[in-house]
Amino acid sequence: MLTGAAAGPSRDCPICPRLVGLRLSLREQHPDWFNAPVPSFGDPAGRMVIVGLAPGLNGANRTGRPFTGDYAGDLLYQTLLKLGLAAGVYAARPDDGLALKDCLITNAVRCLPPANKPLPEEITACRPFLTGQIELMPNARAVVALGRVAHESIVRSSGGRLKDYPFAHGASHALSGGARLFDSYHCSRYNTNTGRLTEAMFVSVMTAARDWAQA
Ligand code: SF4
Repeated sequence: MLTGAAAGPSRDCPICPRLVGLRLSLREQHPDWFNAPVPSFGDPAGRMVIVGLAPGLNGANRTGRPFTGDYAGDLLYQTLLKLGLAAGVYAARPDDGLALKDCLITNAVRCLPPANKPLPEEITACRPFLTGQIELMPNARAVVALGRVAHESIVRSSGGRLKDYPFAHGASHALSGGARLFDSYHCSRYNTNTGRLTEAMFVSVMTAARDWAQA
């Protein structure tokens, strides 16, 4: 049985008071929502790890599965299906039967932050769970960071210095321990609506990460 950070946070993880307050208030407003730290989803034996920022209000915080139920999930899961990294049908529900193949999705911060913006101390507080998750994946060869927050948390988690790993969409970096980090802008609706991230740009990074992981 897993213990400590490797086991993931408990449903009532008390570490970040601001996020606990939001969680409790949402449990009152929406008792049928998940409203808890969102566990990772996918194949722990996989060779690829995808790290997002944090659960979205109407996405993972509502449904309990990363990226499930909001726009970011539409683009992410369509891409995984296209690249052979998922099987089944994505129907934006945790019981849609979708299975990930050779990859796993997690978040740098497991609880919903107000306005999608976790505080630095919340990112730091949740990092042991990210580290624990990555350490549980001995086959991981590619780690995809969806956005700068995920990138920085992965770098810190691996013991690197941020100045040695500048974030840039399309960049990749060797991490200590042998895995390679691939950077993408986050696949959020905001980024795609503003043209900062196109579907082609996103598919390109995910393809590079898959090919590295499976080489
Ligand atoms: S963000 Fe992470 S550390 Fe903070 S309360 Fe949620 S699970 Fe716990």
